Amino acid sequence: MGSRVIVLGAGVAGHTASMLLKKMLGRKHEVVVVSPAANYQWIPSNIWVGVGRMKPEQVIFSLEPVYRRQGIEFHQAAARILHPEGTEGSGPCVDIEYTDPARRGETARLGYDYLVNATGPKLNFGAIEGLGPDKFTQSVCTYHHAAMAWEKLKEVIAQLEKGNRQRIVIGTGHPMATCQGAGFEYALNVAFELRQRGLSDLAQITWLTNEYEVGDFGMGGAFVKKGGYVTSTKIFTESILAEYGIGWIKRAGVRKVEKDSIEYETLDGAIHTIGFDFAMLIPSFAGVGIQARDASGADITPELFLPNGLMKVDADYTPKPYDQWKVEDWPSTYRTPRFGNIFAAGIAFAPPHPISRPFESPNGTKIFPTPPRTGMPSGVIGKIVAQNIADSIRKGRESLEHRASMGRMGAACIVSSGFGLFHGMAATMTVNPIVPDWEKYPQWGRDIENTVGEPGLAGHWLKHFMHYMFMYKAKGNFGWSLIPE
Ligand SMILES: Cc1cc2nc3c(=O)[nH]c(=O)nc-3n(C[C@H](O)[C@H](O)[C@H](O)COP(=O)(O)OP(=O)(O)OC[C@H]3O[C@@H](n4cnc5c(N)ncnc54)[C@H](O)[C@@H]3O)c2cc1C
Repeated sequence: MGSRVIVLGAGVAGHTASMLLKKMLGRKHEVVVVSPAANYQWIPSNIWVGVGRMKPEQVIFSLEPVYRRQGIEFHQAAARILHPEGTEGSGPCVDIEYTDPARRGETARLGYDYLVNATGPKLNFGAIEGLGPDKFTQSVCTYHHAAMAWEKLKEVIAQLEKGNRQRIVIGTGHPMATCQGAGFEYALNVAFELRQRGLSDLAQITWLTNEYEVGDFGMGGAFVKKGGYVTSTKIFTESILAEYGIGWIKRAGVRKVEKDSIEYETLDGAIHTIGFDFAMLIPSFAGVGIQARDASGADITPELFLPNGLMKVDADYTPKPYDQWKVEDWPSTYRTPRFGNIFAAGIAFAPPHPISRPFESPNGTKIFPTPPRTGMPSGVIGKIVAQNIADSIRKGRESLEHRASMGRMGAACIVSSGFGLFHGMAATMTVNPIVPDWEKYPQWGRDIENTVGEPGLAGHWLKHFMHYMFMYKAKGNFGWSLIPE
């Protein structure tokens, strides 16, 4: 009899996992995707939606026809409750609630042999008063938010064109938010757009960040090779900000936002405010709030999830002082310790500890970035989870040969800083490994030959090319599986 694998989520990690699972398992086994949105979105290109250079339709496509063609069963629904021990008369299953307009609010219970939780982040705007597109600040975390940000930015441009000064604040909207890369990229793109229109002089752009030094990016900064020299990401990032005319405020934890001002605390404990006409602040991330029950119906959510809702996997979560954490504490199979048939891929897995050094203000506010959750590791993790599940099903025994620790894998990040075939720019950065390994690389923490940073037009072309390449791959077009994650 065939096996049934359920993948929760159709983002970078979940979509990669489900497409590969179906390809590897064929018709004999079932692959089921549960995801609340009808569309796939290529999130990195939301930056360009947020400056009006791409339309939302260019970064999304409908999932249903792709899954139908691949033979994957698709439920447009949100997972609500896991029953990993099964319920009376049934094996392991998950309760889902439909978001599909035709069945909205209906519920169903789906049984599984293996389950992949790839539900990504809950964008936790609610953690900070006044934060988010429903309140006073913008976001580029979804294509819909990015389109709203562009509408607001157009108003700012109109004011600048009339000769009115405008204050623009871009950065992190929570003392422990991550995703600095995306915020930084958006700040550069906004600066570029204003410069192209000859409006830079009237605009004051500020990068407001919880990083101890700019260029930390939640990975404790890095030393990168650039033009044959080794430099820190602090210098690299500061020089780019300066070149784009962007000021910066670092070590800042946003406390609340009002209609036109942001209150934040700095690491020295002082409270400040900064006024704005336009603000784009990245929220903190949490898990999406899936619950778990045992066979008797008792709540076992804390056994599967950390209090922030992210799923526990094969990491060492024992609390330890920052200097005692090791690369080996990071997970490599992303399987939950309690249930051998549940995995978490992408942002849904709980990292064991921060990579950036933690800091606390005299008022007890923790102000530092949590680990970065970028697309490349999310895709790679989705892939190895799919490979291990497919191997286990095909061999009829547990197989965990494929591994991908963030302490062993590198990641590439291209921060675009302008759009256009000849005017576009990008800072291309690769780090290897993502989590520094000071034992293996005592001088720089990383393999300096493979940790590089270069600004230039070529990076922009590459980022543009990646948009089309990853959209092509995600649609399951001819040869899709040959394109790397
Ligand atoms: C503006 C921006 C720009 C970025 N740029 C880059 C970049 O240039 N390079 C890079 O490497 N990374 C970038 N990232 C990060 C990258 O987008 C993430 O690493 C990646 O999307 C994470 O993949 P994921 O599958 O874990 O989560 P997601 O892609 O967020 O997918 C989560 C999926 O789960 C679904 N879901 C949610 N709740 C439920 C539920 N209850 N049940 C079932 N499904 C659910 C969602 O609908 C979605 O389909 C950027 C992020 C942002 C916000």
